[in-house]
This record gives sequence, C-alpha cells and structure tokens, in this order.
Amino acid sequence: MAYRCYGEEEAANLRQVIESGELWRGFGHDNFTGQFEQGFGKWLGRKYVLGVCSGSCAEETAVAALGLEPGDEVICPASAPIFVSFPVVSIGCIPVFADVDPRTLIISPEGIEARISERTRAVMVVHLWGMPAPMDEIMAVAKKHNLKVLEDCAQAFGPTYRGKKVGTIGDVVCYSLQQSKHMSSGEGGIFATDDPEMYKRALLFANGGMPWYGYGLEAPKPEPLGGVNTRGHFSFGHNYRMSELQGAVCLAQLAKLPEFNKRREAIAEAIEEELEGAPGIEIKLAYPHTEPNYWVYPVRVPAPLGHYGEINYLEVEFQKMQRERRTSMGIPLPDYVSYEPGTCPNAEAGAKQMRGIGTHHSREPDDARKDARALREEIEKAL
Ligand SMILES: *Cc1c(COP(=O)(O)O)cnc(C)c1O
Repeated sequence: MAYRCYGEEEAANLRQVIESGELWRGFGHDNFTGQFEQGFGKWLGRKYVLGVCSGSCAEETAVAALGLEPGDEVICPASAPIFVSFPVVSIGCIPVFADVDPRTLIISPEGIEARISERTRAVMVVHLWGMPAPMDEIMAVAKKHNLKVLEDCAQAFGPTYRGKKVGTIGDVVCYSLQQSKHMSSGEGGIFATDDPEMYKRALLFANGGMPWYGYGLEAPKPEPLGGVNTRGHFSFGHNYRMSELQGAVCLAQLAKLPEFNKRREAIAEAIEEELEGAPGIEIKLAYPHTEPNYWVYPVRVPAPLGHYGEINYLEVEFQKMQRERRTSMGIPLPDYVSYEPGTCPNAEAGAKQMRGIGTHHSREPDDARKDARALREEIEKAL
C-alpha cells in the first residue's frame, strides 16, 4: 500500500475542531494554530512564529515585516518560483533580479552585489531544491550594504548550513505548507523571526491591522474618535490568517516531519546510487558545510536537455512591466532595472542544464530509482 502522509492523527485533530464549532483561530493562541506556532518555533529555533493561509501570503507577510517603503528595491533570485517576486510587487516595492550560481540556480553573493543601488533595502534568499544557499557570503554582502535578509524556506524544512538550521540566519523567514512541500495542510504558510517589532508588523499585516499579538506582547488599544468607537486597525493589512482546520492538520504533520525527512533522505540516496558516475549527469550539487534536505533532487545535464522554467523576469507579467516601465502596482521602474532576456545570463544558461527528480516523502526509493534510470538512459542516448 502506498505510504500515507495523512492519517488518524490529522483526522482526530480535525474532528476536534469540527466538534468545537470554532473553525477559525480568532484571537486564540492556545488552540491548534497557536500550538502549531509554538511547536514550529521550538523545532526551528525562532522566537516568534505566525501561521498564515499560504506560502505566498507568508512571503508577502515577511516582506511587510521588514517595514520597507514603496519604491524600495528588493533583490530576488532570477531562478525561483514567481511566488518569490510577486509579493515584493504587491507590497509596492521593486523586484531587482540577481544572477545565480549556474551549478545550483541559487542566488550568488556576486549576483547580489552587482545589483545594489541607493534604493536596495533587502535581499530574498531562496534555499532552492532544499539546498542551503551560501549564507556566510550572502550575510557578509548584506551587512556591508545594510540590507535586511529574508530566507525563503518553502523548499527547505530542516537543512543545515554549518550546523545551523536554515531559516534561523536571516532577519525573517517564510515557509509554504502547500501539498508538495515537506509537510502540508494542502495550503498554508509560516512566517518566523526573532525580532518582536518584525513579528508585530507581520501580525498586523496578516490580520487586517488588528494587534492580536501572541507571546504576551502588549497591544495598543483603540480610542474613540469624535465620540465614535473604532475597531482598532493599526496598520494596513489583509486577512491571511491560518484557519483552525489548517492548524489542526499542521500540528499533526509537525510531529511526523522527522519521519518525512528521513524518507526524503532515503529517496535522495537511492537517486545518488543510480546516478553515481552516469555520463553527462552531475549530482551532489550542494555547497560544502551544508546538509541538504531535498524538496526535489536537482541534477545537471548537458544543455539544452534541462527543463527549469522558473526565471521570473521572463514571465509575461514582468515583460509587461518592462514595456510599461512600472510595476503592476504602478511603481515606476528606475532605468537600471531590467527584465529583458539576457538580464541574468547564468540563470538563463543554467535553466537549460537543470533537471529535477521528485523526492516527495509519499514516494518510495524505488519510484525515484526508476526516474533516475530513465534520465540516465535519456542522457546516454543524447550524448
Ligand atoms: C511553494 C513555494 C512558494 C509559494 O508557496 P505557496 O504555498 O504555493 O503559495 C514560495 N517560494 C518557494 C521557493 C516555493 O517553493
């Protein structure tokens, strides 16, 4: 029988939520969502955690937490899901794409440095594939230019960089709990930080500006204006709250994360066994001093046999912004910001050399072996 990622534990929690009649978390911090936040913070090693309704919402919340101004520039990796750069646009900031290491498609310190301007305020680091980015070098560039660092760990639950869990190195971090990730509630997301001010900004943004702070943080009280009571919306915000249905599933999933991660490791080992020494295929791309935990196992093959199709600025929407010289939120683009093809040559060349093999924890090592063998045969034929 196929491995079941969801079972009695999730069902029991969900039943409890349904029977309670409280399907939203409301103000609560001692319900399933609150317990999940506490548990995740403990697992990760971060002080403040906020559950939200998707990874994209977590990403936007994390950008909002940095307290940027409209027109500020955020450096993003050229190679990443578009859910990394769209949130920058929706906050009113400008995504500026940095080139990547063509071997891994992970944002490079040199790529970042080449894109710094007067208006650069932050850099978005994606631990793509579940492989930690070269954080020492990236943090050094960020420090030199006084930039905030956002770690996107949507594909990286638990990998380490020099023994430290990724997601504990930058100022803020976001995760996705969408179906394909290391643990899931179908849709869902997580924001985390150690900075109480960033947590407060994040919570306000994700809660319609209402300061329902957890962690015993003191909230401001609304004052009547002209004798009329106000509800107390202290900042602009959306409703990105995680529901108790999501929280119930997430709490059960968190307990299984170590097992899921072991399964992913076994799948990665099987892939490596199959592809060791295969002509034309490069494996084990992770940086020294890192322990990856693969979301998808990346391999390098000769161009143009690679399939990677997530270069953000080549997408239709960015091409429209390029023509109109403004973002979809109406923020004018400075002359030096380009979304033209050729902007990040390593990313574009690397895309044609990258293939991924699925390592989802629901798979068996033998499923991945089959994929690896098929790839090996395909490349052998093409050589
Ligand atoms: C999945 C993913 C997201 C978006 O998360 P959703 O939950 O799908 O909105 C963002 N960044 C990365 C790197 C992802 O892999």
